[in-house]
Order: sequence, then structure tokens, then C-alpha cells
Amino acid sequence: MSDPKAKCLYCEQTMDEIPLVAIHYRDQQYWICPSHMPLLIHNPAELVGRLPGAEKLTPHP
Ligand SMILES: [Zn+2]
Repeated sequence: MSDPKAKCLYCEQTMDEIPLVAIHYRDQQYWICPSHMPLLIHNPAELVGRLPGAEKLTPHP
């Protein structure tokens, strides 16, 4: 199994450039950088098209 190199699902910076946080969603693993972590929490609509299923996420105020 060849894992693609970890990179932020939003800005695509790799783990060589920035610390990445691994997230698990629907049996898949993704990575997100600290700068874009707030999108996942507060504005998941921004991730539609990048994170499959993001449209199902509810933003936290
Ligand atoms: Zn990022």
C-alpha cells in the first residue's frame, strides 16, 4: 500500500513544511495544518470538494 505523502487537505503544504494533524473520516485518513483546522470546526463548507462528505458537517459557532 503506498500512502500518498501527508499534506494539508486545504493548502496542500506537506509535513516537511508544517506540522499536520491527522483526521479520520469515513474510513479515510486526511491531514490538516493548524492554520486550516479552524475551517474544519467553524466553516466546513469551505472544505467541500476537498474533504469528501464535508457538506454533511455542521459548523460549530
Ligand atoms: Zn493548510
